[in-house]
Amino acid sequence: APVVLWFRRDLRLRDHAALFEAAKHSKHILALYVLDDRLLKPAGSPRVAFLLNSLRELDKALSGRLMIRYGDPAREVVAAAREIRAAAVHVSADTAPYGRERDEAVASALEEHRIQWVETGSSYAVTPGRVTKPDGTPYRVFTPFYRAWSQHGWPRPAGTDVSIVDWVKPSSSSALPETPEVDCELPPAGEEAALSVWHDFLSDGLADYASERDRPDHAGTTKLSPYLRWGAIHPRTMLADLAAKRSEGAQVLRSELCWREFHADVLWNRPETARKNYDRRFDGMRYDTGKTAQEMFTQWREGRTGYPIVDAGMRQLLAEGWMHNRVRMIVASFLVKDLHLPWWWGARHFMRHLVDGDLASNQLNWQWVAGSGTDAAPYFRIFNPTTQGQKFDPAGDYVRRYVPELRGVEGKAVHVLKERPEGYPEPIVDHAEERQVALQRYGAITKS
Ligand code: FAD
Repeated sequence: APVVLWFRRDLRLRDHAALFEAAKHSKHILALYVLDDRLLKPAGSPRVAFLLNSLRELDKALSGRLMIRYGDPAREVVAAAREIRAAAVHVSADTAPYGRERDEAVASALEEHRIQWVETGSSYAVTPGRVTKPDGTPYRVFTPFYRAWSQHGWPRPAGTDVSIVDWVKPSSSSALPETPEVDCELPPAGEEAALSVWHDFLSDGLADYASERDRPDHAGTTKLSPYLRWGAIHPRTMLADLAAKRSEGAQVLRSELCWREFHADVLWNRPETARKNYDRRFDGMRYDTGKTAQEMFTQWREGRTGYPIVDAGMRQLLAEGWMHNRVRMIVASFLVKDLHLPWWWGARHFMRHLVDGDLASNQLNWQWVAGSGTDAAPYFRIFNPTTQGQKFDPAGDYVRRYVPELRGVEGKAVHVLKERPEGYPEPIVDHAEERQVALQRYGAITKS
């Protein structure tokens, strides 16, 4: 009997454990994607546009045989499976809170029709929940998690030759909607694009990754996050290539990939941390939320804080739907510790604009910077936006690229402006003063 492969965050055909599993059971596979408003509505148009482009690429790879349906997956997946009299629906596990709830509903709706639900693999090298301390409890700190995760290992699934699959031609399929107009430049979508970005990085970027990854003025990172987000490439593919290399760059990149796995593991064990503080002491933290706070939030979002590195980062986000990791940390720290705004305001803005916006990575990195997360960087280590700019954008090129008002200022002087060019704002707060305020507020919750 034919089977359904329901694609979600695994929009590729290579190194795809659920596809290989499905192909073991049947040569006749229906490829399905369900456009679900509950996921699309909060996503923001850059991420939706990238998703739609990725689906178009997947459909091309399937010679136009991707079935698209709209609506509630509990209804649509069952309808698609019944239409072809499928014996089973195969998926890669989704371990985020909404995905888990949705999949439970779909699996039980299928059960009523005696259609099997089969989960194989996930978007991670090690499926969240599998790396535990010897006593079975989850890790709360990255370094020991990294050690245990490395020991756990990530065998690649036996590669069934997917060219033997006879993709079922959908009898009915909705057309994909037009890609929405977006103001930002999107990277090319799809599995081929992901692999080409990765192979270019292996030959040109990996050797210097350890020293270059903190430099927003250089293109020193993989820029694979949007592809990992939608599963156009699997981290296992990357880890297998890295295993052949002994360089420091390979080691550092492996640990960055593990941060992604760690945050997914935390969200799996504590789904409520998508909204709530991981460290509940922070429930008592005082944040500003009044009218002035709202105005400052607008200035932060638009990149008009008067701190050049912060403004460059916020404008990169709007221009590209992506921001360099070092600058994500600087702007997040600025929002929480200089403006005293709730971390979830910043997280929501990021989720709306990031093409790679991912609940686990985003919310838990925000919490990490805010101090309310796991393995918190000590709260008193507050980023100074000026010295961070001087250190990581030493010639000022990154700032000038994104803040046109400052293009006339040469070299590192962009970080400590003697005069403000016309149109560029004065600093909206004084960092030294706000640092003290942040420390006082932190003191108030740690004393109690
Ligand atoms: P590379 O340096 O090339 O790293 C390779 C891959 O490792 C990345 O693609 C990513 O999948 C993973 N990775 C690297 N650093 C981290 C990290 N700190 N946490 C989790 N995974 C990591 N990443 C997202 O994918 N989605 C998000 O929504 C997101 N929100 C963030 C919010 C804040 C406040 C901060 C500080 C970081 C956030 N990150 C997020 C992590 C990180 O900034 C991006 O993954 C990275 O900048 C992507 O660029 P890259 O692919 O070139 O990274």
